[in-house]
Amino acid sequence: MPNNITPVTFASLNLAEPLMRAIADAGYTQPTPVQAQAIPLVLAGGDLLAGAQTGTGKTAGFTLPVLHLLNAKPAANPGAGRPRCLILTPTRELAAQVEESVKTYGKYLSLKSLVMFGGVNINPQIKSLRSPVDILVATPGRLLDHVGQKTLDLSAVEILILDEADRMLDMGFIRDIKKILALLPKKRQNLLFSATFSEEIKTLSDGLLNNPGFVEVARRNTTSELVSQTVHMVAQKLKSHLLSHLIKHNDWKQVLVFTRTKHGANRLAEKLNADGIPAAAIHGNKSQAARTKALAQFKDGTMPVLVATDIAARGLDIDMLPHVVNFELPNVPEDYVHRIGRTGRAGSNGAAISLVDSEELQHLKDIERLIKTQIPRISIDSFVPPTHIPAEAPRPPRPQHGQKRHSNTTAGNRPPREGQAPTGNRAPREGQAQRPRNPNAPQQPRDPRGPQTGLPRSAQKPRPPQSTPKPQPLLSEAARHQAMPQPALFSPRPAARRGK
Ligand code: AMP
Repeated sequence: MPNNITPVTFASLNLAEPLMRAIADAGYTQPTPVQAQAIPLVLAGGDLLAGAQTGTGKTAGFTLPVLHLLNAKPAANPGAGRPRCLILTPTRELAAQVEESVKTYGKYLSLKSLVMFGGVNINPQIKSLRSPVDILVATPGRLLDHVGQKTLDLSAVEILILDEADRMLDMGFIRDIKKILALLPKKRQNLLFSATFSEEIKTLSDGLLNNPGFVEVARRNTTSELVSQTVHMVAQKLKSHLLSHLIKHNDWKQVLVFTRTKHGANRLAEKLNADGIPAAAIHGNKSQAARTKALAQFKDGTMPVLVATDIAARGLDIDMLPHVVNFELPNVPEDYVHRIGRTGRAGSNGAAISLVDSEELQHLKDIERLIKTQIPRISIDSFVPPTHIPAEAPRPPRPQHGQKRHSNTTAGNRPPREGQAPTGNRAPREGQAQRPRNPNAPQQPRDPRGPQTGLPRSAQKPRPPQSTPKPQPLLSEAARHQAMPQPALFSPRPAARRGK
């Protein structure tokens, strides 16, 4: 649950009675700020530009008024496979969760919803499209597959919602989005939700939205005071040992662990399992069934550890997550804020623990600059590093520090535009161009029982990056996304001056 509440009541929003009942069933007592602001604007029928990220209650912010509008007005031209509302999301998980919300809030209405995404058999989706559908939640690629197969007709769409539009652009969906826009009726209501507001989002919203209302909540570069943040300085090769120790020693029941790569996620999950800690990796190379199962087991408490990459974790809504671990720090400081925002929700306290190797110190500094907080360094007195550690598997080089990021205000170093080759030092495609680490790097403690962190004293001081990675070839969308600079904060003009 989002942290903020507002003085506005649900009763004052004039939502239909079946929606009010569903809201009460969900246990919501007051609208969140994004709901309080967005719901009246959407109900009034206008376009909307909203700056809100996961955890703010944004999904109900658009789902509730959309259900109200669709329920209030019967379909002009009902028919099978002709949705009246289209919600586009960047990831399968987010699509599934949004449709879940549609079902939750719409449970006392007779509107039909459907979710579709790639990576699963298309035939059940085709079958569902033979019946009427009011609200379709989809990822762009699979949606276009259906359009190509003529199993879906977008000519009846009255309301379009782009959810997490910034991530959609980061993930290279702009062409797909443009193709989809061209298939929609010209006259429709458009809602665009984005956590950040880059030049690309501005261009998209300028072309898409007509005199939109504007809502912005929860600036992203702040961390919740309810999350206790700590850093453990530890050599990369000791991290999995330390993590196993922390989980066992503290009896952690639910930990979301972030790794930088899919291979890293797999390796870590295997290591934890070998240590007797049930864990699963969740990332784009896993089948949808495996991802859904892992998430369900993690949520119901049967599997205490979920290891995820940033992309896979996108849109995961797990209430009251007590522990988030950064097994590696993200390259992009804003992703740290995103990651640790998974804990400390619903007014409950959470802990974000970062395992930081000396090579990551510059990333740590960048994060601390962004959140304007010095994160306490903690040593774990109870942790005794193993004396024999098997040779470390090579890991991919990080993009060189400082070259992939763009400033909040300048046009330099932005993510590549459509059709433009990514430049500079980006993360390598997984399994590609891996270089062994510098064997001379002082990562191994001289005395294994020495510093609890496993780092020699010299390695605990900030040092500049040791080498420059070679330029990398073009990347997959996923790898490109992981290395992608985050766009600037929302700072659009007020709605009144946004006339077109
Ligand atoms: P979202 O930002 O849409 O991903 O929502 C984050 C979480 O907030 C979800 O678990 C919702 O169930 C919950 N939530 C949404 N609106 C409210 C509300 N008004 N009161 C309490 N919890 C809410």
